[in-house]
Amino acid sequence: MDLLLIGPPGVGKGTQAARLRQALGIPHLSTGDLLRRHVAEGTRLGAAAAAHMRRGDLVPDELVTEMALDRILGPSCAAGVVLDGFPRTPAQAEALDAALAGHGRRLTAVFHLTAPDRTLLRRLTGRRTCGDCGDSYHLDTKRPRTPGLCDHCGHRLVQRADDTAETAHARLAVHTRQTEPLLERYRPTGVLHEIDGRGDADDVTRRLLTALGRGAAGSSAFLAGGAGRL
Ligand code: AMP
Repeated sequence: MDLLLIGPPGVGKGTQAARLRQALGIPHLSTGDLLRRHVAEGTRLGAAAAAHMRRGDLVPDELVTEMALDRILGPSCAAGVVLDGFPRTPAQAEALDAALAGHGRRLTAVFHLTAPDRTLLRRLTGRRTCGDCGDSYHLDTKRPRTPGLCDHCGHRLVQRADDTAETAHARLAVHTRQTEPLLERYRPTGVLHEIDGRGDADDVTRRLLTALGRGAAGSSAFLAGGAGRL
């Protein structure tokens, strides 16, 4: 089962992808997380990506596509994957669809998560992220048990460099201009589901699982653990 979450920054793709991973037992692939890891480790790819990411721009297709397809076609994703943040341009989508088709796979469902801009900006600027495991918190709505520290692994929480107000605005504009056109690619194929990303994360997870035809069974499983974050 190959699933794709499309939506503006701050809509909850990462949170929901982690929950789908737990509910369905397939890994979660976040290209943003992979790229941040490259930047932190100072790899060549990280060096090439860093300035784009700081500005809130997309990293060039040729850098991201190979990195993502390597994982998607690798053994850890053989039973499927929850894609979060890839593809983000029509060229990336074309490369993904061709690569999946070459392996007898196709996207099972594409979820378009939406929320108003003011909600997204509030979520982005209040977000704090664990510098180690990537767990996400919010200054108002999801505070850690100990201020400034990750509940999960105890590491320090940081604000992502691209979650400042100015860069968050730029990222929303990039999403509208470069990623929303992807919806027209998937709409005619019947796999696209429009999902309201507002409100409680549990409610959004239920909407996703219901759209997937996994209503009650999936909901009870999403606390049960599953395959890892890639
Ligand atoms: P995210 O964590 O998904 O919000 O991604 C953070 C940043 O990583 C984005 O603002 C882009 O600069 C970069 N990025 C992540 N995924 C992609 C992608 N598929 N194509 C281009 N850039 C990406």
